[in-house]
Amino acid sequence: MIQKKISSLSTILKNPIEYLKGVGPLRADLLKKELEIFTFEDLLMHFPYRHLDRTKIEMIGSLDASMEYVQVRGIIVSMEVVGERRSKRLIVHLRDKSGTIEMAWFQGITWVQKALTVGNEYLVFGRLSFFLGRPQLSHPEIESLRDSNAAGKAFLEPIYPVTEKLKARGLNAKAIAKLVQQLFLVIEQKDLPEFIPSSIIKKRQLFLRWQSLRAIHFPENTSQFEKAVERIKFEELFISQLRLSLLRSARSRFSKGVVFSKVGEAFNRFYHECLPYELTGAQKRVLKEIRMDMGTGRQMNRLLQGDVGSGKTIVALMSMLIAVDNGFQSCIMAPTEILAKQHADHFKELLSPLGIEVALLTGSTRSPERKKILEQTQNGALKILIGTHALIEDAVKFQQLGLAVVDEQHKFGVAQRAKLWEKSAIAPHMLVMTATPIPRTLAMTAYGDLDYSVIDELPPGRTPITTVHRLDDARPQVMEFIRSEIDAGRQAYFIFPLIEESEKLQYEDLMRGYENVKAWFPEPNYWISMVHGRMNADQKEVNMRRFVERDTQIMVSTTVIEVGVNVPNATVMVIESAEKFGLSQLHQLRGRVGRGSEKSYCILLSANGVGKEAKERLSVMCMTNDGFKIAEKDLELRGPGDIQGTRQSGALEFKLADIVADKVLLEFAKQDADLLLSNDPDLKLPDHESLAYYLRNAKSQHPWAKIS
Ligand code: ADP
Ligand code: MG
Repeated sequence: MIQKKISSLSTILKNPIEYLKGVGPLRADLLKKELEIFTFEDLLMHFPYRHLDRTKIEMIGSLDASMEYVQVRGIIVSMEVVGERRSKRLIVHLRDKSGTIEMAWFQGITWVQKALTVGNEYLVFGRLSFFLGRPQLSHPEIESLRDSNAAGKAFLEPIYPVTEKLKARGLNAKAIAKLVQQLFLVIEQKDLPEFIPSSIIKKRQLFLRWQSLRAIHFPENTSQFEKAVERIKFEELFISQLRLSLLRSARSRFSKGVVFSKVGEAFNRFYHECLPYELTGAQKRVLKEIRMDMGTGRQMNRLLQGDVGSGKTIVALMSMLIAVDNGFQSCIMAPTEILAKQHADHFKELLSPLGIEVALLTGSTRSPERKKILEQTQNGALKILIGTHALIEDAVKFQQLGLAVVDEQHKFGVAQRAKLWEKSAIAPHMLVMTATPIPRTLAMTAYGDLDYSVIDELPPGRTPITTVHRLDDARPQVMEFIRSEIDAGRQAYFIFPLIEESEKLQYEDLMRGYENVKAWFPEPNYWISMVHGRMNADQKEVNMRRFVERDTQIMVSTTVIEVGVNVPNATVMVIESAEKFGLSQLHQLRGRVGRGSEKSYCILLSANGVGKEAKERLSVMCMTNDGFKIAEKDLELRGPGDIQGTRQSGALEFKLADIVADKVLLEFAKQDADLLLSNDPDLKLPDHESLAYYLRNAKSQHPWAKIS
């Protein structure tokens, strides 16, 4: 009865998005395709990634690389179209008392050109980048100061993530803001009922749900915004802690584990005949922990942490051989096709002497290959399956899955991990691996029900990577150094930053960067591979393979290359605009070199005058190679409250919360969740009615529905 009342209250949120005034079928279609906004609720939960203080105007001469979004005011002094066809762009220079900045448009050129006049004064706002040391704004927002009161605006303007396609169809961040405004005209407080018990709201002095969701879009001031963010973070952490606890208790109540009672021929023969090197002490210890755990009759659920290059893959492979020895299937899931392919090649090579077959399944595996793999997985002929997210699709059915490994766990969400559980009547053993070092206590809280192993030792014979920070001015020397490495038979990476809200921009930057690298390393003496997010799997693979096989000496890439790629002959890693990366990401990227016996180098390039914090990040990188030290420093530097930064860690599926930066909040959430469940383990008390309802019905509830 009560339940019915609650659900009927929130029906307006389930309205299809086209019912919102100002949307209509065309826009609805775009919102669905581009942002996965299907309902009023989806729009409500599409948070701005930041707010802008539009009252602030910078001097062009004092812009520096630490600034992300800037507003400047000046006179247009020149305007010209350059380039042909795809590289055609409109270049406009804007000048104030202190300097000149270049603005570029790649699309809508004619229209923009018509709207602007040389000699007039404009207010310009956009994301600042530095290219080869010069400040630039690509596709900025621009308003004439003649015909508007733009200069007088004083507000916190929400900026929403949008795609290029949306922008091109007129659904830019501003238009989205209008829709959200419209949404708040039709929903009321009663549509967003509170579900966190009032005792907790009081104790933690939290904003109410309704209040927070409103303020996260349209705060009246900064402190109100911060309270809203805090509430939503708390909510995310609290709900996830509840779910972890419920999952844990469900596991101990219902799920028995598969017993791997022996270590047999496959494992032993591999160990004695095929293992290409001696395992490190840490690898042996971890392998033993895993083996013991899988033999107990309890389902293993283990987090394996080990710095980049510590040799987690071989531990996974050997654990999978134990599954083979006990007549079970196993699988390993990797976050990218490149990585899955690499694992598959590696496994095939190592396992072929034993006659153990390995198959690779990804989104781009086509029939009949796909069909064959699905069949053999289902009838049990195939023992080891390697793949991407494709593995968790419903079509993939195992005859008897005994062990599932998730590589680079931090790239997946809890729900995806949980989906693997359902691939077998008895939940398979789970081994999740990550190179993101998280302090132990935090790991236990974040991953709740997981046991924990660490590889804290690198394979022998690695010379430590030398890391340096160089300014753009030093590019010629950097390039000459790289030339000497390449001429000595080595290979190099050039990494360009990923710009979150604009794929198009990222692409343009990458292309320009590619041209620049090519100018230094011309064919036919040098060959360059390139990999980026816009390529399809085949193109990526061809480029990757050419690099692996040394047909190309240079790899130009965005961060798609970040995780796990292994080319031991590569000894130089250049990270362009290094100030734009977070510490843990820099560390991950650096881990691509120093994998062979040759001395390796990581060169962090940045513009002149990077901000204080960025400088500190770069200097930490130059000082240490130790992932745990870097993680601690990262935590110290980032601090809470940075909405954009928080997303990157992605350890769990949170919109805002970050288990590292929001450590304190996480602890509170855990305490509150534990206390609540100890009083009411099945959420049966009337006070917890709406909470139970929320847990059952909120998105990504998978697979906790089982529990109720
Ligand atoms: P990560 O832990 O980052 O996934 P990998 O498993 O990719 O690291 O291992 C990095 C490199 O180290 C690979 O080339 C692998 O073959 C090699 N390797 C792993 N273990 C050892 C070892 N015990 N001795 C020597 N080389 C090893
Ligand atoms: Mg790896």
